[in-house]
Amino acid sequence: MQVAVVTGPGEVELRDEPRPRPGPEDVLIEVGTCGLCTMERRLFAGTKPIYPVAPGHEAAGRVVEVGAAVALLPGTPQIGDLVTMDLLTRCGTCHMCRRGRSALCKRPQGGALSDGTISMGAGLAEVVRVAAAQTYRVGEIPVEHAAMGEPLACVVHSVRLSGFRSGDRVAVIGAGYMGRLHLALCGAWGAASVAMIDVSEARQAEALGAGADRAGAPDAVTGWLGGHDIVFVTAGVAGAVEMALELCDDAGTVVLYGAFPKDVMASVGADRIHHHELSIIGVFSQEPEDWRTAAGLLQSGALAADLDRLVTARYKLADVADALALAVEQPVYRVMVG
Ligand SMILES: [Zn+2]
Ligand SMILES: [Zn+2]
Repeated sequence: MQVAVVTGPGEVELRDEPRPRPGPEDVLIEVGTCGLCTMERRLFAGTKPIYPVAPGHEAAGRVVEVGAAVALLPGTPQIGDLVTMDLLTRCGTCHMCRRGRSALCKRPQGGALSDGTISMGAGLAEVVRVAAAQTYRVGEIPVEHAAMGEPLACVVHSVRLSGFRSGDRVAVIGAGYMGRLHLALCGAWGAASVAMIDVSEARQAEALGAGADRAGAPDAVTGWLGGHDIVFVTAGVAGAVEMALELCDDAGTVVLYGAFPKDVMASVGADRIHHHELSIIGVFSQEPEDWRTAAGLLQSGALAADLDRLVTARYKLADVADALALAVEQPVYRVMVG
């Protein structure tokens, strides 16, 4: 079976790999499609130079083989089921896993191909083997939607940790793919309003088309200050934390979702945090309960129209180089490969 391996900046090849055999607790998935995330873009662009590497962690497909221990086990996906899958490992043993915070598992993640090539998901492939416990049935939905299980689980994690409740007024800084998933989820879960902030006029217009109540550039939001309960920062840039705090009403929560450059510092008035009961939290990755919620949302179809708008392009696995080139050269939501 074939698997895509990024071998250097701008270089990707399809390698032949022995078809994996499921262990007793595993299932084998024929990949229907796999989304290209920031990690894949950074590897291909050369800004995260780890080579050779088999990326692709936003995959979905159908179960084609089931391990002996999980065959016919109620709740476990079975042959023919469409699933979304968690391709990151969690040890279950470290302090963070035991605290129920497995997004922050202390053990290094990832595996390797048969020749030792580092795997960061290896979902840009014809077939993947994954523990049955890390697969989630999604019913009969478009496979591109199923492949949004991982980013949606990350956004479910973000909204869960934010303490969001129906009726809250939400602002999202950054109207890219992750910002748009926050818009879709908070809208579906009963936000009183969702405001989107982005430097791109095109993205502002697209966010309005997708149901945002307001959209504007960072320098045009002075009239919105002090009017939000939860502010999600999906674009980690200098000044974003300060702006997010300004957007908060009393008892507001700022959620730092997107990665920031390591040298960005934020200046926060400590007394303001105290007197106005403000919170600033970081969120990272996802956990099994977020996956379960994300899979349920996918199966329900509640976000189907939103997810459709976020598929920028589809490519066959043989054309993975073109797909990666598009994803690094142009602003995209999700490019799908498979
Ligand atoms: Zn991702
Ligand atoms: Zn762990």
